[in-house]
Amino acid sequence: HSKSLGHNTYCFFQTSMVANAQQQLLLLQDLRLAMERQEFDLYYQAKVDAKSGGIIGAEALLRWHHPVRGLILPDAFIPAAERSGMIVQLGAWVLGEACRQLQAWHDQGYGDMSVAVNLSGLQFGHTGLVGAVRDALQRNNLEPRHLTLEVTETVAMRDADASILILRQLNDAGVRIAIDDFGTGYSSLLYLKRLPAHELKIDRGFVRELPHNAEDAAIVSAILALGHTLNLLVVAEGVETIAQQRFLTALGCDSLQGYLFGRPLPSDQFQYILHSSLRGPSGV
Ligand code: C2E
Ligand code: MG
Ligand code: MG
Ligand code: MG
Repeated sequence: HSKSLGHNTYCFFQTSMVANAQQQLLLLQDLRLAMERQEFDLYYQAKVDAKSGGIIGAEALLRWHHPVRGLILPDAFIPAAERSGMIVQLGAWVLGEACRQLQAWHDQGYGDMSVAVNLSGLQFGHTGLVGAVRDALQRNNLEPRHLTLEVTETVAMRDADASILILRQLNDAGVRIAIDDFGTGYSSLLYLKRLPAHELKIDRGFVRELPHNAEDAAIVSAILALGHTLNLLVVAEGVETIAQQRFLTALGCDSLQGYLFGRPLPSDQFQYILHSSLRGPSGV
């Protein structure tokens, strides 16, 4: 009987593997169609100056409006897009679309606005990246300093020597570089010192339990000291409460992002917030 049990176990295992493989295949087919059918969309989340509270920029966050499944968040499809290589094409679309939107906001008088775009690991290592970035900027007549590219600490440190070369080229192109989800990877301080970056984004895992969690408070002040020593601006993500805002501002955090200041919104709704924000148009 143990033989038949083994057989059943094998069958069960195989069936679930096939089901999973089928699901992945469907997801990939759906992703390909989604490109054609223009089901992707960018949402924008405000980034505010810690001292003034004014909106200084927005982070573009990818969304998929699936005809059957509804709104799908990036964590559910970016890994598949990355495995299939489709992320390169999708990422190029994100860059172009974010730049187009930013230029539209500049035209409306918000000439100081900047936009941040997330890069995946594959996109970051792709030889066409610098060209795609320059192209998106030129086509939309944007100054490179208004575009920030976010790369996670984990991706940046995976092959640190290669990353330094890529970041140097992006730096030469004039765009700003943010190291995203900082504190969740394994940074070598020697490499961090040499990374041509402009910003560190403290991962929201360290922000969540502020101000009462003493370990997180100590880690956040250490990241701030480190970042400022290396002449980097330090941004906190995931700020949800006024207590967190006060705490991070008192510690010297430069800018803040989180639900307290706004959730990621479709471009027209973000624009509405921009129009009604106290800061008003910068007047170009
Ligand atoms: P990320 O770049 O670290 O983006 C921050 C994530 O935290 C976003 O999730 C955002 O909606 C969420 N968030 C912001 N403020 C708060 C808050 O106060 N509380 C909480 N609980 N969450 C907050 P989202 O939009 O689901 O994106 C997840 C990740 O997917 C991003 O993490 C980024 O790594 C990736 N991603 C998003 N858009 C793109 C894209 O266009 N290309 C690539 N390659 N990756 C992207
Ligand atoms: Mg990001
Ligand atoms: Mg992040
Ligand atoms: Mg993240």
